[in-house]
Amino acid sequence: ASSNNDKASQGKFDFIPTEQDLRDAIDNKQLILYYQPQINMKTECLHGAEVLVRWLHPEFGLIFPDKFIALAEQTGLIEQLSEEVIHLAIKQSVHWQKLNRATRLSINISAQNITSLKLPEQLRMLVKKYEIDPSMIVLELTESAVMGHLTSSLDVLNRLRMKDFLLSIDDFGTGYSSLQQLYQAPFNELKIDRAFTSKMLHDEEAMIIVKICIMLGKMLNMKTLAEGVETQVIMDELQRLECDLAQGYFISKPLSFNQLMDWLPQY
Ligand code: C2E
Ligand code: CA
Ligand code: CA
Repeated sequence: ASSNNDKASQGKFDFIPTEQDLRDAIDNKQLILYYQPQINMKTECLHGAEVLVRWLHPEFGLIFPDKFIALAEQTGLIEQLSEEVIHLAIKQSVHWQKLNRATRLSINISAQNITSLKLPEQLRMLVKKYEIDPSMIVLELTESAVMGHLTSSLDVLNRLRMKDFLLSIDDFGTGYSSLQQLYQAPFNELKIDRAFTSKMLHDEEAMIIVKICIMLGKMLNMKTLAEGVETQVIMDELQRLECDLAQGYFISKPLSFNQLMDWLPQY
């Protein structure tokens, strides 16, 4: 049985968006944000939430990012898409502050977003305009996106860090970063890919990779976050291994804003 009911509806149609469809979607404000809670393993308190974009299509309903992020990256629309996601997330964050529920937000960023100085500048202007503490914003970059050409992205990454934004390496363990690159990159958080978390109890290789990630995190002074935590036993084991943070269906699936507001108090 699928633990993600939203996804079950995806098979009913085969909507393959074109560049123009996606451009219209961005212009017509059809992109919406879902939030997946992240918790602190020690205190079991809420640590933050990852922002996951969805396309609310008037005809086809909720469309998941695997249907349009690659298209956005291929066509260059990723710049506008990320701009929209960041703007929506920051506006939401203001709303939270007013409710006295300041939550750190993790935003997914593509490789192309860090090839110019536009992103640090856009972020700087937005946090200023909305009076947000930049350390409430975590930018997630996949290991493969950033480590492939670290020398060229290092300038942008360092600028973001200097402005106090936090940086997280996503899908860690699936790319090829050298220890030297890892040492040089100014990341605050290392996200262990769900491929390892989900298999760690039955697969020795996955378990060793999880342990190495946690050790690397400690040595390089980065928080480790395990993604794809689906069961209590995996949660307990990660706690025992002293992983700092966790995210996954066991804690909560990604939620709409209203669902998140209902989820928060019972947590
Ligand atoms: P990701 O960054 O690895 O995000 C986590 C994905 O894992 C999400 O899928 C989430 O729903 C799913 N997930 C969370 N917990 C579990 C679990 O316990 N088990 C399993 N099996 N899956 C879990 P989603 O929302 O479909 O997003 C897919 C990918 O799309 C994301 O992977 C991210 O790479 C990309 N993406 C999402 N939003 C954005 C965005 O705003 N900008 C960019 N550039 N990429 C985005
Ligand atoms: Ca991510
Ligand atoms: Ca990930």
